[in-house]
Amino acid sequence: MPVDLYKSSNHRCIAFNDLVRGEDGVQANQFLILNGEHSALIDPGGALLYTPVSLAVGRYVPLKSLSWILASHQDPDVIGSADRWLMYTGATIACSKLWGRFVPHSVPHYVDTGGKDRYLLIPDEGCDIPMGSSVIKALPAHFLHSVGNFQFYDPLSKILFTGDLGASMVDEFSPVDAADFDQHIPTMLGFHRRYMASNRACVVWADMVKDLDIEMIVPQHGRPMRGKAVARFIDWIRQLECGTDLMTGPGRFREGLRLVADNAPKIPRAQVGSVAPKANPFEGVGH
Ligand code: FE
Repeated sequence: MPVDLYKSSNHRCIAFNDLVRGEDGVQANQFLILNGEHSALIDPGGALLYTPVSLAVGRYVPLKSLSWILASHQDPDVIGSADRWLMYTGATIACSKLWGRFVPHSVPHYVDTGGKDRYLLIPDEGCDIPMGSSVIKALPAHFLHSVGNFQFYDPLSKILFTGDLGASMVDEFSPVDAADFDQHIPTMLGFHRRYMASNRACVVWADMVKDLDIEMIVPQHGRPMRGKAVARFIDWIRQLECGTDLMTGPGRFREGLRLVADNAPKIPRAQVGSVAPKANPFEGVGH
């Protein structure tokens, strides 16, 4: 069932959260924003999802009239069905300038509607995407997890659509409140430790959003976080060790050393770096 995340007389944000059937793929959320005659579909998914998502979207807006496809990054579960959205809608695809020459790889030659005029290539620092009487803000979240990665902030609903950041590996969509946050952490932890690139990227993102007026963080997989859980999540991400922080050698990763709950005492940075030093920092390389 579609879920209204926000609804006013002229503005609406709808989530589709149950369109991935069976065991075929990871649970994924897709989002439709409507503002008067204008519309934006966020992270519509790949071939697995084109038919159910297009049917669901078509109940709210004629497909031909869809204004925007907003892609947080280049993954198949985000934008793998670019060819069909270009062919069956009039939408412009907005994605990082880094992916402007890669996304067309999923668009065959017979889709002659897929030229440069169908793409808005977002610069590294982000941009405002016009949306009727408002805008959608493309906010940079590079390396979280993709090298060219954007999140989409809707200033009317105050929802931040965070793509893979904040994703939880669960098949439910009920919002997480502050009181649930500690229990929610284990559903996010393994994914974030491996898929997010480094703590440096996490800190840059946390500094960017800490003063942003956010009612709800809504990721592409799993449960939204709302109210005071938003600040809890930002604090948690700020201290997360992930990606290259955890690499100990080729194909080898250690568990994070920092504590999982953000309200627990933090291990000082110097202490983290001094734990279990390797005699040979290149151990394993070339063997
Ligand atoms: Fe991804």
